[in-house]
Amino acid sequence: MSRAAFATIHLASLRHNLQRVRELGGGAKVMAVVKADGYGHGLERVARALASADAFGVAAIADGLRLRAAGFRQRIVVLSGPDEAADLAELRRLDLDAVIHHDSQVAWLEADRDPRPIRAWLKIESGMHRLGFAPARAAEMYARLRALASIRSDITLMTHFAASDEFDKQLTAAQIAVFDAAVSDLPGEHSLANSAAVLGWPAARGQWLRTGGLLYGLSVVDGKTGEDFGFQPAMTLSSKLIAVNDVRKGEHIGYAATWQCPEDMRIGVAAIGYGDGYPRSAASGTPVLVNGQRAAIVGRVSMDLITIDLRNVPNAQVGDEVVLWGRDLPVEEIATHAGTISYDLTCGMTKRVLFVED
Ligand code: PLP
Repeated sequence: MSRAAFATIHLASLRHNLQRVRELGGGAKVMAVVKADGYGHGLERVARALASADAFGVAAIADGLRLRAAGFRQRIVVLSGPDEAADLAELRRLDLDAVIHHDSQVAWLEADRDPRPIRAWLKIESGMHRLGFAPARAAEMYARLRALASIRSDITLMTHFAASDEFDKQLTAAQIAVFDAAVSDLPGEHSLANSAAVLGWPAARGQWLRTGGLLYGLSVVDGKTGEDFGFQPAMTLSSKLIAVNDVRKGEHIGYAATWQCPEDMRIGVAAIGYGDGYPRSAASGTPVLVNGQRAAIVGRVSMDLITIDLRNVPNAQVGDEVVLWGRDLPVEEIATHAGTISYDLTCGMTKRVLFVED
């Protein structure tokens, strides 16, 4: 039997979340961002649940290949590619949309003699300073792409936000203004909004939302869970107790002896650790559910095991279920304890975790 580390993927919740994004999006089309193996939930599984999305967004051509091989026919956008000239042939073969953000890509396209046109999204840099052409070059780059036989005429204009999770931050308002000014004279659909912008920046809807996190029920808004906005967690990570031990007052728990028992107490040991993707940075006090009751991790997270203060769960015994995050225990709360964001946690599951669907 495999180890007891399970990621249960809630397919109905994925579907609910897409519906909720559509409600909030006021009629805009939805690109379901499924990069990083569907934020760790499993690419094909997620795409099946979200098959009614208008497009999929991936970070790698290889993910586009997987989706095409699985039979998905809608648009698939490679959010940062092509990465090299040879990718153009793959984009054509798989009918994937390209995001054009850099002069090097335009040079590959201009040198390309294949007449079969590729669909392009032109990315404008509006304040994040990661990928995209300077706003002052938007019209020039649009014209250069339109002049190419290798690019289709229906170019979508896009930008990406740096801090849309901060609803009162002027940076996002400024990014919207910069983008709008840069593309106002250009034809084509617009795409600005990631998940947080769908929640907090209705002015940024455009024709295409690009949502990842919310589809998985995840929030990156400080102090808020996906559930606070009407979304449902799509992953529950669970394990079970494989030992329950009596430990005396004053004894230490785990590596580096970082936690000392304040009284005689029972310590539960669950079969999950950083070798499964549970964050090693989750400090003593990080909550878990044992048989549905809140308890807390004490001591360091080990590779294969965690240790749990069972004072809140007096009847706990070997074999009992331990939930690390998901339904009834928001992953955002665990992320806060671990000093990271929810996306990082769901993306981090290792091969050792058994995925099941419900
Ligand atoms: N658009 C782009 C270009 C991205 O890189 C990402 C993810 O980082 C998204 C959209 C989706 O972001 P989120 O998961 O916050 O909705």
